[in-house]
Amino acid sequence: MDAVVFTGREQVRIERVPAAIVVEPDDVLLRITRAAICGTDLGMLRQPGQLALGTVLGHEYVGIVEAVGSGVRGFREGDRVSGSDFVACGRCWWCRRGDHWECADRAFFGTGTTFGSALPGAQARLLRVPHGDVVLQLLPASVSDDAGVFFGDVLATGYAAIGRADMLPGDTVAIIGGGPVGQITSLVAQARGAGPVVVVEPVASRRESASALGALAVAPDEARALIDRLTDGRGADAVVDAVGGPIGLNSSFGLVRRRGTVVSIGIHHQEAWPLPVQRAFADELTLRFAIGDSMRDGDQLTALVGSGLLDPTPIATRVVPFADAVEAYADLLSQRSLKIILAL
Ligand SMILES: [Zn+2]
Ligand SMILES: [Zn+2]
Repeated sequence: MDAVVFTGREQVRIERVPAAIVVEPDDVLLRITRAAICGTDLGMLRQPGQLALGTVLGHEYVGIVEAVGSGVRGFREGDRVSGSDFVACGRCWWCRRGDHWECADRAFFGTGTTFGSALPGAQARLLRVPHGDVVLQLLPASVSDDAGVFFGDVLATGYAAIGRADMLPGDTVAIIGGGPVGQITSLVAQARGAGPVVVVEPVASRRESASALGALAVAPDEARALIDRLTDGRGADAVVDAVGGPIGLNSSFGLVRRRGTVVSIGIHHQEAWPLPVQRAFADELTLRFAIGDSMRDGDQLTALVGSGLLDPTPIATRVVPFADAVEAYADLLSQRSLKIILAL
């Protein structure tokens, strides 16, 4: 089958690889209809670390069930599904709590061993999904393929962030970073009743996207002044760091009000960061981290999107044929596009 494979730093190719098949009784085999390219894919291409040459990339997908293992109960051939970007057993202590990320069986699609055991990725004709009953969710007719491809990672992440932000209706929410995850976090905050949502982003085209999607968009050096105007000088009730690293955390702490909450969903590569602990104590700040989990939150995501309350599709700059994947990667690596979906 054809697949997008990693062939060297900042390089991908479409190559023929052995077709995915059902291996275990709880496997579901999908014929992929949409696979999105993620900032995580781009980050790995720039710093390949644990990514082996020849790895099939991709972890954001929608597909049609092609075959199921003998133990699969919830799906059958022809079902249209989206799925989480990682798999978990669904039976252990952590999974029963809804903390699938902590599962000892965790394996992440298309990222080598960066986040657990390696699983071939979804930018391919076929995808083997272990623990299919746990990992996949049926898409109703009201959710298009182009919307469903956001469920497994980007939308689940934004949803987890706002879920941990202690946000009340009308609250002022600041989001650091206008990449796809920052943009979707803005949409989730708006759908859940936020007051003003401020997206802080240095790149002008991304600020335009944020404005078009209903947020107030501002460059980093103007963010504090805008939020002061909106909050009578108090600061944002909640801040989501969708950048990560010292820049994301420091920016968040610079905008949050006393007794406010910072939720960090950006990936952190550095081991430590100096927490401004005197202020954190005196102002009773809350700092949380969140990782998306569509196995836990998938029903809510379906309800939000299926009801029309939230439409993630404008975040995709383009939907292109699978054959154009190499060009799509080049476009995203040079930041000419925000998000590209491959159609198979
Ligand atoms: Zn992703
Ligand atoms: Zn588990």
